[in-house]
Amino acid sequence: MQISAKAIKPLVSKVIVIGGGIGGLTLARACLDANIEVELYEKRQLDAMLSGAGGIFIQRNAIRVYKLLWLEKIYQRFYAQGGKIFKGGFKSKSGTELYINSPEFAGEEDLGICLSRRELQQILYEALPPGIVRTGMTFEKFEQTQDSVQVYFQDGSTTTGDILVGADGLYSQVRASLSSKERLEEPLYSGMCCWRGFFNGSSVSLDKKYSWMEFWGRGNRFGYFDVGRGQFSFYAFNNSEQGGNDDCVGGSLNALKLIFSDYAEPVPSILKALENESIYRDDIFDRQPLGNCWGKGRVTLIGDAAHPVQPNLGQGGCMAVEDAFELVNSLTKAASRDQVVLLLRQFESSRSKRVTRVFTTSRQVGQLGQTNSAIGCLLRDWIYRLTPTWLADLQFKWLFDYQPSWKE
Ligand SMILES: Cc1cc2nc3c(=O)[nH]c(=O)nc-3n(C[C@H](O)[C@H](O)[C@H](O)COP(=O)(O)OP(=O)(O)OC[C@H]3O[C@@H](n4cnc5c(N)ncnc54)[C@H](O)[C@@H]3O)c2cc1C
Repeated sequence: MQISAKAIKPLVSKVIVIGGGIGGLTLARACLDANIEVELYEKRQLDAMLSGAGGIFIQRNAIRVYKLLWLEKIYQRFYAQGGKIFKGGFKSKSGTELYINSPEFAGEEDLGICLSRRELQQILYEALPPGIVRTGMTFEKFEQTQDSVQVYFQDGSTTTGDILVGADGLYSQVRASLSSKERLEEPLYSGMCCWRGFFNGSSVSLDKKYSWMEFWGRGNRFGYFDVGRGQFSFYAFNNSEQGGNDDCVGGSLNALKLIFSDYAEPVPSILKALENESIYRDDIFDRQPLGNCWGKGRVTLIGDAAHPVQPNLGQGGCMAVEDAFELVNSLTKAASRDQVVLLLRQFESSRSKRVTRVFTTSRQVGQLGQTNSAIGCLLRDWIYRLTPTWLADLQFKWLFDYQPSWKE
């Protein structure tokens, strides 16, 4: 149920958000639901903001947030357009099942929705009235007083709000400004690169039992998932030097074929269904968790700006969604306006344990999935095969136990 206007006592009247990714757009919608004025500034032009490589898992924990927002309208569009997350898991590169889960382990019919990033951004953007999102606006710095924050943009313009939220991703300039740095230090390279893209489900014979699957090889992995309406997204990781590219092998499709052609079906068939031009490659990074305190005064951070993680759990964006909700929820608490700064710090420390656990678990799953040695892979596959499903489920169950609700 959406929060009723009567029940809300917002502590702030205007929030300035930097960044129009999943975190910033969700935060803006949550502010409006809580009767808080919001302005969102995004450095990219609208077309670019509404794009993105491959698909994304919006898992049950984040889906529960969307059930609370905007009379479930975002939630309903997700389910109308996306692919439900049903049974899926990990197999060895030869096709042996290592760990297969199904939504029952979290007590649900499905574990959420997968969408193309483009569709996700479009749906979130369309959930906001015109004028809230201002594109082509690059945040530069802020200055704060006891009562407000003044924000400066690269084009010389400024705006003022009660609080400033940096939702500006891995290279967050808001986070850099918090420590008076001109630019944030480099993030930590994971040791692997990632290719992403799409294929049409009708061109590949897929096992209908599974809506997603990930195959684990030696120093590389290949996964696919249903993003709805007959489309599938794939991703592939490979241990490699930072800053590499596929020019020397004649493009990304050739690179994928060289690494993954000897994987079990349907991987070779998926490779055949891909087009070189639509494959996107990038390097994977994270940053050490910030601990209990992410911001300063009236400035805070959410999502990748605060806690970028490796994408091995498909939870980085989901954590941004949880942050967005929890931040606005804390601002609707019945308290006096001079407690705003305290509430921001409480918000950060309340999120710290969970996002740190996602960071650590993501790294652990990445280490297992990207194991390089033959013996290591044998051992890994053997342990996974022998582990009872209920025990393996416990590794992930805490993620799905998140139950957001508006505070009265
Ligand atoms: C390969 C891969 C797969 C992934 N899969 C999943 C998945 O399945 N599920 C999941 O939940 N997560 C996944 N993630 C993680 C997820 O993509 C991120 O955690 C999520 O996008 C973070 O959202 P955000 O809003 O915090 O930041 P971002 O999405 O990075 O958005 C930041 C925005 O801020 C803007 N910006 C930056 N600087 C400025 C500035 N100075 N001024 C104004 N605007 C600025 C940017 O242009 C951008 O639009 C994956 C990540 C990768 C790399």
